[in-house]
Amino acid sequence: MKKKQFKAESKKLLDMMINSIYTHKEIFLRELISNASDAIDKRYYHSLSDSTQGLAREDYKIQLFINKDAKTLTIVDNGCGMSVEELESNLGTIAKSGSLDFKSNNEKQDDVEIIGQFGVGFYSAFMVSDEVTVKTRTANDETGHCWVSQGADGYTISECEKAEIGTEIVLHIKENTEQDSYNQYLETYTIQSLVKKYSDYIRYPIMLDVETRQLKEGSEDEYETVLEAKQLNSMVPLWRKNKNEITDEEYKSFYMDKFHDYTAPLHIIHSKTEGQVSYDAMLFIPEKTPWDFYSKDFEKGLQLYSNGVMIMDKCSDLLPDYFGFVKGIVDSPDLSLNISREMLQHDYQLKLIAKNIEKKIKSELSKMLKNDRDKYITFFEAFGSQIKLGVYADFGRHAADLKDLLMFWSSTEKRLVTLQEYVDRMPSEQTSILYACGETFDKIDMLPQADSLKDKGYEVLYLTEGIDEFVLKMLQTYAEKSFANICADDIDLDTQEEKEAIKQENESAKELLDFMSETLGDSVEAVRFTNKLKNHPVCLTSEGDVSIEMEKVLSSIPGEDSQVKAKIVLEINSEHPVADKLKSLYETDKEKIADYAKILYSSARLIGGMPVENPTELSNLICNLMI
Ligand code: ADP
Repeated sequence: MKKKQFKAESKKLLDMMINSIYTHKEIFLRELISNASDAIDKRYYHSLSDSTQGLAREDYKIQLFINKDAKTLTIVDNGCGMSVEELESNLGTIAKSGSLDFKSNNEKQDDVEIIGQFGVGFYSAFMVSDEVTVKTRTANDETGHCWVSQGADGYTISECEKAEIGTEIVLHIKENTEQDSYNQYLETYTIQSLVKKYSDYIRYPIMLDVETRQLKEGSEDEYETVLEAKQLNSMVPLWRKNKNEITDEEYKSFYMDKFHDYTAPLHIIHSKTEGQVSYDAMLFIPEKTPWDFYSKDFEKGLQLYSNGVMIMDKCSDLLPDYFGFVKGIVDSPDLSLNISREMLQHDYQLKLIAKNIEKKIKSELSKMLKNDRDKYITFFEAFGSQIKLGVYADFGRHAADLKDLLMFWSSTEKRLVTLQEYVDRMPSEQTSILYACGETFDKIDMLPQADSLKDKGYEVLYLTEGIDEFVLKMLQTYAEKSFANICADDIDLDTQEEKEAIKQENESAKELLDFMSETLGDSVEAVRFTNKLKNHPVCLTSEGDVSIEMEKVLSSIPGEDSQVKAKIVLEINSEHPVADKLKSLYETDKEKIADYAKILYSSARLIGGMPVENPTELSNLICNLMI
C-alpha cells in the first residue's frame, strides 16, 4: 500500500511530537479522550434531528483497553466516527496548520510552548507511541477505514472491518528510554490516575478493565482475580461542582485543557445564578493575548450547555465584542436542547444570560482594578485595546459603562493611570485633561510640546495606540473635563499676559509668517510664532477636529484612501535664535527665508514622527547651508 505524506506543517509538528522532550507527555490521553468525547457529542447532537443515528443516552461511552503483551493502549468511542475524507483531512493535516506557519520564523521556539499553544490534539499520541492505528466508521458508511502511521514518514488508509459506529485508536507504546518511562502507560494505575486528573468531568463514562479480587464462585474463603470494567471518571462537570470543592489546580487544568492555553488563566469567574433564568457560568480571562486573537479565524464565544450537554461550541451572542477575549462555558437547564442557531439568537433566556454575563465581567474587572492593580495591568496590557474598542464601537453606546476601565500612560506617574485618578490630581486651574499622541512613550516624551509642559509640571497622558485618540473623542468629556491634545494649535495653558505677548509677536511679524506659509503652499494651514516650546525651534500642531495622529491612523487603514487630513500649523519658537534670524533676513534675503521655511517644516515633520514629503529637496537644502 502506498504511503501518503503528511502536509509539510503537519510533518513538522509530528517530528516535534516524536522527538519531544516535553515533560508532560501524559497529556496525550487527555487529548484523545477529549476528542472521543467531542465525537460522541457530535453524534448525540445529530441524533436529536435524526433518530436513526443515535444510541440511548446511557449507551454512549469511552472505553480504554490495556494489552501489556502487545504493548498497546486502545481508546474506543462510539461517537460520530470519520469518513475516509475526514480521516484524510483531519489526521493528514493539522486543521490549524496556519498557526504553525505563524511560528516557523522562530525555529528555536521550544516545543513546550508550541505543544501548549496549539493543544496539538491527536498528534500528541506520537509522544508516547511508535505506531498509531485509527479504525473508524461513520453512520453513513458500510465499512470502516483504517489509518496507520509510524510517524513522520507518512500514513496509509485502507478499508477495514468495523462493526460499530465510532472510532478505535490503538497506540503501540514506545520502548522505555533513559529519560522516559513509557511502560507506565500500560499500567492500570497510571491510566486511572490520569483520567481522574485530566478527564474527570467528561460527561460520558470512561471505562477500563480493572483487576479486582473477588470470592471464587461457590467458595467462602478462596479469592480470585477477575477483570471488571470500572468507570474511572465522576462525570460531574467541573462547573456544576461547588466552588469550595474545586482546587485551583482543577480550574487551571480544566481551562488549559479545554481552551488550549499553555498559561494558567489570569482570572476565573465561577458563578451560579438562579432567578428569572438559571445558569452556571465558568468564565476565564486569559493572561496573554491568544496568538490568533487578531486573526480573522478568531471566533469569540462561550460554550453553551443545556443540563451538561453541549449545544454550541462558540455561542457568540453570549459575549459583547469587547469582551471577546473571555473564554468559558455557560450551562443552563432553561435552554431547550435542540435549539437551532437561528432560534438561539432570538432566545429571550439567552439574551438575559448574555446581559448578566456582561455585567458580571465588568464588575469583576472593576474589582480587580480596585483590589489588585498589578493583575489589572497585566489584563489591560493584554486586552486593554478591546476595552478601548468597546468605548468607541456602536457610536459610543457602551462608553459610559466602560470608561472607568480605561488606562493611559501618565507622563508624571510613569505608569498606567485611570481617567479618574488623573482628574483627582488635576490642579484647580487646569481645565482640560491633557494628552499627546505618538508611536512610543519615549518619542512622545521628546516632543517639543511635551517638553515645555513637563517644565510647568502638567500631567499628560501619552497615547500610543492608533485608537486612543478616537476613544477620547468619543468620550468627549470625563467628569465634565474636556480632553485637549497638547499638539493642537489652540491648547490653552498660558496666562493672559503670555497670550497677549505672543499675539503681538505674531501680528508684528505677520508679513514674514504669511510669506513662509505661502512658500509651503498646501502643506500647512499657517505659520506662527509660539511660546510653548522650551528649547526647541519648531513643532507642528493641528487646527480643528482632526489631529495629526488621527490623520496618520486613518491613512494607514489599508484600502482606504482617506480624504481626512489634519490642518497643519508650523509653529516656531519665538524665543529661539532661529526666530530672530528669520526676522532679520526677511528684509534682506527672502529667498533664503523660503529655503529655511522648507527646512523648518521638514524638521518639524520628522520630530512629529511623519515622513518628509521631499527628502531629496531637504538634503539639498541642508547641503547648501554647508557650502
Ligand atoms: P482538534 O481536536 O483540536 O480539532 P485533533 O488533532 O485532536 O484536533 O483532531 C483533529 C480532528 O480529527 C478533530 O477535529 C476531529 O474532527 C477528528 N477526530 C479526532 N479524534 C476523533 C474521534 N475519536 N472521533 C471522530 N473524529 C475525531
